[in-house]
Amino acid sequence: MRLKEDTRKGLQKLGLHTVRDILYHFPARYADESTFISIAQLRDGDHATVRATITALKARKSWKTKVALTEATIEDVSGKLHVIWFNQPYLASMLSVGQTVELTGKVSIHNDKPTLTNPVVREEKVLPIDSMDSLFGKDAHGVLTPIYPETKGVSSLWFSHTIARALAELKEVKDHIPSEILARYSLPSLTTALIWIHTPKSRTDATIARKRFAFDEIFIINLARAQERAKLKERQAYAIDPSVVDIDSFITKLGFPLTGAQQKVVDHILKDLTNDIPMSRLLEGDVGSGKTAVAAIATYATVMNRPLKQGTKQTFGNLQVAYMAPTELLATQQFESFIELFKDTNIQVALITGSGCRKFPTKVSSHHTSWTTISRAQLSKWIANGEIPIVIGTHALIQKSLVFKHLALAIIDEQHRFGLNQRKSLAKKDSHVPHLLSMTATPIPRTLALTIYGDLDLSLLDELPAGRKQVETTLVTPEKRDETYAKIASLLAEGRQAYIICPRIDEPDPDKQKAVIAKSVEAEAKRLQRDVFPKARIGILHSKMTKDKKTEAMEAFARHETDILVATSVVEVGVNVPNATAIIIEGAERFGLAQLHQLRGRVQRSSHQPYCYLFAETKSERTAERMKHFTHAKNGFELAEYDLEMRGTGELAGSSQWGMSDIGMEALRNRKLVEAARLEAYALIERDITISNHAELANRVLAMSGVHFE
Ligand code: ADP
Ligand code: MG
Repeated sequence: MRLKEDTRKGLQKLGLHTVRDILYHFPARYADESTFISIAQLRDGDHATVRATITALKARKSWKTKVALTEATIEDVSGKLHVIWFNQPYLASMLSVGQTVELTGKVSIHNDKPTLTNPVVREEKVLPIDSMDSLFGKDAHGVLTPIYPETKGVSSLWFSHTIARALAELKEVKDHIPSEILARYSLPSLTTALIWIHTPKSRTDATIARKRFAFDEIFIINLARAQERAKLKERQAYAIDPSVVDIDSFITKLGFPLTGAQQKVVDHILKDLTNDIPMSRLLEGDVGSGKTAVAAIATYATVMNRPLKQGTKQTFGNLQVAYMAPTELLATQQFESFIELFKDTNIQVALITGSGCRKFPTKVSSHHTSWTTISRAQLSKWIANGEIPIVIGTHALIQKSLVFKHLALAIIDEQHRFGLNQRKSLAKKDSHVPHLLSMTATPIPRTLALTIYGDLDLSLLDELPAGRKQVETTLVTPEKRDETYAKIASLLAEGRQAYIICPRIDEPDPDKQKAVIAKSVEAEAKRLQRDVFPKARIGILHSKMTKDKKTEAMEAFARHETDILVATSVVEVGVNVPNATAIIIEGAERFGLAQLHQLRGRVQRSSHQPYCYLFAETKSERTAERMKHFTHAKNGFELAEYDLEMRGTGELAGSSQWGMSDIGMEALRNRKLVEAARLEAYALIERDITISNHAELANRVLAMSGVHFE
């Protein structure tokens, strides 16, 4: 195929390299031409929808009132249209010149010049499987035009033409999904589905084709997980006997009674550990739900057991535990928590990160409560000969040079995936595979958990420790901003600290997105310093900063060298600063509720009354309704389900990180489809662990297994 330079670049940007890639570039949705109106046909007072290309775009402040304005010119073949948005400064960074948009709003015409005021921008990302209303234009009855994710040089029209030609030459493609499975769910063959998804004759055709591809993806992910799980079951882990350990007295020393949820989860885990089949458990619990105590109890039970060698009872040495945290800061915090929990037990705890190693206590059986710095070489030696039972660290833990003698349990905090390969690499010289306890505070709905964590058993910590103060949550309208700032100022005067979170900005190009967010964080910090909190010490945190700068900013805040931390929503979830008792979230309506809940959890860490202020840019009923739901919700998982139902998968925190396509993600709203794909996958692996009867399917599963979500 001969391509224009622009087209070639555009395709590259979209990650499309082959004809096959292009065939798998599915329409984001389908437009019904009969519902659009051309710009030349617009009349004063119309409420209309136009589809056109942005040719100019700028953001500014109005002269007198200082209201934020975003202005654009859009053009279709019939003419030009002026567009203006009030109070939505972030639109300018979400949209870009050259992009095709669909806008719905009120038209006014002065001196023959039409203007569209505050129109709704149609996002091309929405593609529900079952709610046809948003996949197709309302009341569609005309010709369906596929609308593709496009970029400069490759328009939807280009895709339509190119794909039509490719489909015309398409021979029957061999289907990788077993035909009896397709038949069971009335799903079309691969060839039919490709034709229907790109050139549907009806809505039903398109919907069925999408279902087929959604099933396809979820099925393959599940096959990969089922296979991994089956392989793991063939491996051996150290069986841990909780009955030889005085767990109750360890729990008593925690200083608080376990919550019902903690007790239940501890029971699950101890039961798993008694098996010599490796445990694979995911512990989901909101920030502050007490995952550390659970991890510590499992750790204690493990290190108080002795390694068994070939059936003989060995009375010397001990089993080891590795605890991995996602950042140096969190690893260090967890090291300190563990010192606190293990200081009376005579059990040594070590820390290993990129910037050095520590060991507690300074000397074995000394009554010191402090740690000492040691060399990496020395620590490696003590880990290799089994002398140090508990090692906490970052990714440095799974480096080749580090070898455990009797690693029995690996605990992973906030890591998205941690598969068999990593487990094996932790326990290289050992025939045993460690038990795995994975912990997360990221609330995700059940269908997503079942899919991406299909190889793990789930436990939920759905109860906060008693006595935790409920966060007082308020939706703040623009005219009440000053009142809120005054409240924050008085909290600062009492010696508390506050987070201010800048709005989420949706920008398809991740680099551009980071830059835009960084700029908004810096600008907001400056504005707050100048106009609102002149006396406060203000720090900033965003993802464009270097790792060192980020740590520095977080540590300064933790040590109360700054009073306010202006940050993006991506600041580390587990960071613990108990003295921070208020959080302002700008542009709150842009966040998923589960994500807001996570942000709110950061200020719920002390005995002071915590406050959460949601600054919203709109006063719509829907926003009010969502926020009401948010104020009353008990936990993040409830909110994740609610988000999925009401707003789709776009709201899931960090949805890009799960490594699934838009169609796959959207299918998560379809519980039946997800469960069917899962059932079929596990049944197939049960019969045939290597998928030897379906070569093409086995290839695809292999490709999927290579994807790690880290
Ligand atoms: P997370 O689940 O976010 O990791 P942590 O384990 O850090 O939560 O616990 C948060 C705080 O709650 C800690 O200060 C911890 O000591 C305390 N905590 C944990 N469990 C309980 C409990 N059952 N009763 C009272 N306080 C608890
Ligand atoms: Mg934690």
